[in-house]
Amino acid sequence: MLRFTALTTAQNRKPVAVPENGKRSELFAQNVFNEEAMRQLMTRDAFAAVMNAIHNGTKIDRRVADQVATAMRDWAISKGATHYTHWFQPLTGGTAEKHDAFFEPVTRDRAIERFGGGQLVQQESDASSFPNGGIRNTFEARGYTAWDPSSPPFVYGTVLCIPTIFIAYTGEALDNKTPLLKALSALDQAATEVARYFDKNVSKVTTTLGCEQEYFLIDKALANTRPDLMITGRTLLGHQAAKGQQLDDHYLGAIPSRVLAFMRDLEQECLLLGIPVKTRHNEVAPNQFELAPIFEEANLAVDQNSLLMDVMRKVAERHDFVILFHEKPFAGVNGSGKHNNWSLVTDTGVNLLAPSKTPIKNLQFLTFFICTIKAVCEYEPLLRASVASATNDYRLGANEAPPAIVSVFIGEQLTQVLDALEVSSDNLSPEEKTELKLNVVGKIPDLFLDTTDRNRTSPFAFTGNKFEFRAVGSKANCGKPTMVLSTIVAQQLTDFKKAVDALIEGGKKKEDAIFKVLRRYIKESKKIRFEGDGYSKEWEEEAARRGLSNHKTTPEALKENISEKAVALFESTGVLSKVELLARYEIGLEEYVKTVQIESRVLGDIALNHVVPTAVRYQNTLIENVKGLKEIFGDSYQEVAAEQLELIRHISEHIKVIHSQVEAMVEARKHANHLPDFEAKADAYCTQVKPFFEVIRYHCDKLELMVDDELWTLTKYRELLFN
Ligand code: ADP
Ligand code: MG
Repeated sequence: MLRFTALTTAQNRKPVAVPENGKRSELFAQNVFNEEAMRQLMTRDAFAAVMNAIHNGTKIDRRVADQVATAMRDWAISKGATHYTHWFQPLTGGTAEKHDAFFEPVTRDRAIERFGGGQLVQQESDASSFPNGGIRNTFEARGYTAWDPSSPPFVYGTVLCIPTIFIAYTGEALDNKTPLLKALSALDQAATEVARYFDKNVSKVTTTLGCEQEYFLIDKALANTRPDLMITGRTLLGHQAAKGQQLDDHYLGAIPSRVLAFMRDLEQECLLLGIPVKTRHNEVAPNQFELAPIFEEANLAVDQNSLLMDVMRKVAERHDFVILFHEKPFAGVNGSGKHNNWSLVTDTGVNLLAPSKTPIKNLQFLTFFICTIKAVCEYEPLLRASVASATNDYRLGANEAPPAIVSVFIGEQLTQVLDALEVSSDNLSPEEKTELKLNVVGKIPDLFLDTTDRNRTSPFAFTGNKFEFRAVGSKANCGKPTMVLSTIVAQQLTDFKKAVDALIEGGKKKEDAIFKVLRRYIKESKKIRFEGDGYSKEWEEEAARRGLSNHKTTPEALKENISEKAVALFESTGVLSKVELLARYEIGLEEYVKTVQIESRVLGDIALNHVVPTAVRYQNTLIENVKGLKEIFGDSYQEVAAEQLELIRHISEHIKVIHSQVEAMVEARKHANHLPDFEAKADAYCTQVKPFFEVIRYHCDKLELMVDDELWTLTKYRELLFN
């Protein structure tokens, strides 16, 4: 049987030998056309033009583009590239590429390697097969990709990849990158203005992002025996192993040797591509691991995370693993997330979310800190929506998952600081002000000597010098949550500036005005702060009393994106238009429907074609056995064969339920498929199709426990997780 051959194969595997190809620092960014490479290979003019485009968003003219393209091409060919591609992130969440050869015949027997500014800067792309949410009609199925100079091109394998944005000819964004760039720019503007209250030398604020990526590694032969894992990325059934993560013996444990070989291989690949991977360790669940790069400018970090996932898949294959990015591949063990560590840094080198030595700088820290909390409070449903997906629904809001509530954790000390500020009066005497500055604001750095009281259950936690958005799914493109977070903070900072300026105009001193607005924000955003156990039932009740949203499913969560408040926010910040929001809403729901639909089909198939036949086969051996016992024992066989008879009956009962439930699920699907409106369809899949999953699974898992292990075709949890 396939399962046993696979188990033997898996058990006999040895780690793949991975040579160290030189010092890690020397490998770093070898295959990236970065500033260093450009400086060396481009004319001074071209270099200056590109730098200007990167830092100030200026346009690059055609002549310069040709020069850049030539330098890029020669560099890429020297790295072994034969093709180039515009590399972009369509709304499917993954990455897309279409390779074109540099090679171009000029006559019948002569060819050249060609790549000009035109090919670099803009490419037409038949976009009709990418999700567009009805933005383009089929007769206008054209979109184009355009170079994003702020993310450097790289050679991956034999292909020069050029990061690009992807837009419709009518101008709407068809990707995740375009709105992200707009959000980052809006945040830059708003944050710079506010930072200039504290330091006139600031002229740019950059968003930084570090994405910790969690994943599972499963032996390829074993994974191949599970159609559910291969097609949907998660196990749709399977009884939990006797041993799971109860013993807490996996987290930060010794890394298994095959996995270590994979990690070493992966790290070298990543370094060549300029991805600064730094940390590797086991995670909480068996066969679960984490990789964290050093943070980068957010747009680059998002690109690199997308690339990273791609590289991980390929390297895993070399090591005979299947890598799972699904947020909840196994019931009963922890799921995977992608913690998005987010902060802001000025061009003067100051992390705006890091407390500093002087009171005035700490007022700056407090300003950005409190404005972020206020933004999250104001727009929490949008943050929740930004991480919503059919797959992440199993990790947020489901049973055995934390509730889907966004709250902010800041730790005991900062809570005390905010409490003290909140009760201070609006019209401080000079003495009171000095006291406040020295003893509250001025004490902040000391508080950070102990930031160990981290609350791992919080979806949005302050961790010393950054916020960590932990609700992001491991499979997600982190462009989306980063875009939303950056947009809401941009809006908040703009509102803050307006409020402070109005007070200053009314005669208040700058510092007093800032304190006054912050004090109001602290009060207004109190309900989003929660320091307790975010996984508890009590919190769910408490959050409901506080009026926080708790959308357990994707269709519910996504609806927030088209609320009046959301449209106003995205339009006023210039990040997304109403048309784009509506299109994204439709795409999100379509993707949801497809995911649930596929799971439903696969589950029906496995239940009827794997589980039931296996159970019947086992039941037949039981029947044979009972017949034999009857022959031997005559009338008293009933007593001797009591257990077998029980089993035979139970098996029949489970089979019956499985049959009827699969049938009913198919009917529910048919009904849903006929609904004309995509909202109704998503809702039907969510509330009428998906509920069958648990019932069907329950009965299949019961059969797994009854049926002879020798007959069971699907690799079991204990085998998947402990090999
Ligand atoms: P952990 O949260 O697991 O304890 P760290 O605090 O060391 O680990 O950092 C986790 C991630 O946060 C890393 O990817 C790191 O690069 C990133 N990070 C650290 N500082 C910043 C920052 N200022 N902005 C964005 N990300 C950051
Ligand atoms: Mg972390």
